[in-house]
Amino acid sequence: MPVLTKPRTVSEINLVRPSMRALRNRRTGCLHCHRTPLIGELVFYYGDRMVCELCRPLRRERPSHQEIVHSGEHTLTVKRLQR
Ligand SMILES: [Zn+2]
Repeated sequence: MPVLTKPRTVSEINLVRPSMRALRNRRTGCLHCHRTPLIGELVFYYGDRMVCELCRPLRRERPSHQEIVHSGEHTLTVKRLQR
């Protein structure tokens, strides 16, 4: 199978690592698996702690609320006004 992209050099990877660390620190991951939920995934909140859909069966109590994960641009989109 042909390789579609050329391999990254060590210096390229070293440039990306600090920005990936900075992004990871701002994200909220699942309480159990620490995974960042995907856009469109349903997540459950127990107080201020978030649990992903895959780890939800690990909790017996009911979540305080649940929501669908939106992209970072979700609040920046142009929306039609209701008339
Ligand atoms: Zn999880």
